[in-house]
Amino acid sequence: MNAHLLTIGDELLIGQTTNTNAAWLGERLSRLGLEVERTVTVGDDPDRMREELDRSARRADLIVITGGLGPTHDDVTRDVVADYFEAPLQTDEAILDRIRRYYERRGRQMPASGPTLAQVPQGFETLENPVGAAVGLWHEATVEGQSRLVVILPGIPEEMKGIFSEAVQPRLEARDDVRGVHHRTLVTSGIGESSLQERLGDLVDTLPDDLRLAYLPSTDGVRLRLTTLNEKPDGAENQLDQLEASIRERAGEHVIGTGDVMLEEVLGDRLRATGTTIGSAESATGGLIGHRLTGVSGSSDYYDGSVVSYANRVKRDILGVEAETLDEFGAVSEPVAVQMAEGVRQVLGVDIGIATTGIAGPTGGTDEKPVGTVWLGYADAHRTRAIKRHFVEDRTLNKQLFATAALDLARRELASRSEEGEDWMPR
Ligand code: ATP
Ligand code: MG
Repeated sequence: MNAHLLTIGDELLIGQTTNTNAAWLGERLSRLGLEVERTVTVGDDPDRMREELDRSARRADLIVITGGLGPTHDDVTRDVVADYFEAPLQTDEAILDRIRRYYERRGRQMPASGPTLAQVPQGFETLENPVGAAVGLWHEATVEGQSRLVVILPGIPEEMKGIFSEAVQPRLEARDDVRGVHHRTLVTSGIGESSLQERLGDLVDTLPDDLRLAYLPSTDGVRLRLTTLNEKPDGAENQLDQLEASIRERAGEHVIGTGDVMLEEVLGDRLRATGTTIGSAESATGGLIGHRLTGVSGSSDYYDGSVVSYANRVKRDILGVEAETLDEFGAVSEPVAVQMAEGVRQVLGVDIGIATTGIAGPTGGTDEKPVGTVWLGYADAHRTRAIKRHFVEDRTLNKQLFATAALDLARRELASRSEEGEDWMPR
């Protein structure tokens, strides 16, 4: 079953409102197994809207419209839909009554425009709104001999989501022409998009037509979205299982999980499972590692704290980095990263210390150490190490990427250590 989304509103076109409805619905519908083929945004213009509704009605099995359903003069959706499907508007007394009570409960009089909300195109079903006054509409129509499903939802995101979750999704799930989940997401870490593509290249070349692989890079890592158009649930699951196995074979330890799992959760689970504590010494990341780790509920089990050691004085006086090392190699260097990691381990009394020292930019780069250079330090009771990475020109992105790289270093070290045995880390 394929779907088109029509999002209505001038504010979406001029960038005043971000079209979060399209993103949210796109995700929900594709998770249900529908193929979202097209999203169109049109202004509060009845002619344009009718044009797009007509185009979608000829092509799409499901058309979801959001916005322009309210009572103000710029809300044209109701009229356009009624006119297009030749379903004259009628007042639904039960809804009118509910709207009146909705306002009364809030101690307000129903506004003069209220009755508009109770106008329903003839033959359309209404979908109750758990959040606000405007109801959603559901209609099964026949267009050029094809059966079409039309769903109309208010523009306000909370109302749209409420009606979709409570009324639309259960109805869609109950239909035989909408089938199970056809997407799977693999979360990777510590590998860039192009390196990943090199590893997976041959795999993509041999994929059958109904199986697709998409790369979704972010500063947290690259997510891989596996999609199958296979209509049979068993066949679809099988295909996804096989593709996942082939990817894991090629991307190895870089695949850290599925769905929307995050690196800091994976690291946190490992730390908890091994009874290991961690702390960070943050120069370039300015506390971002601590922020990321504490974003996970229950992180106090393993995260003790950070020293934000931005100034060399703090690296020296608090973390015990040697003045000579700073003078000789500079703050962004291997020995300083190592000493920071070791220092924070000692100062905080944690099992693992991780450290970042780098040049986030846009200024401060040199030929030898260009903007985007970072040294990441790691220290536990048995060993210390540092690795150099080079990222981008943008300060905000660099800080995110540095933090991700440091967390990934800890994850990989922990994985390789725990393979070596149970009692690898006495304090
Ligand atoms: P109302 O009863 O408030 O008039 P409505 O169904 O007519 O609701 P709109 O008037 O189009 O909806 O939009 C109401 C508000 O919802 C807008 O101000 C905007 O903030 C938000 N909104 C509308 N469409 C979207 C969208 N596609 N994505 C995110 N927000 C949206
Ligand atoms: Mg409106």
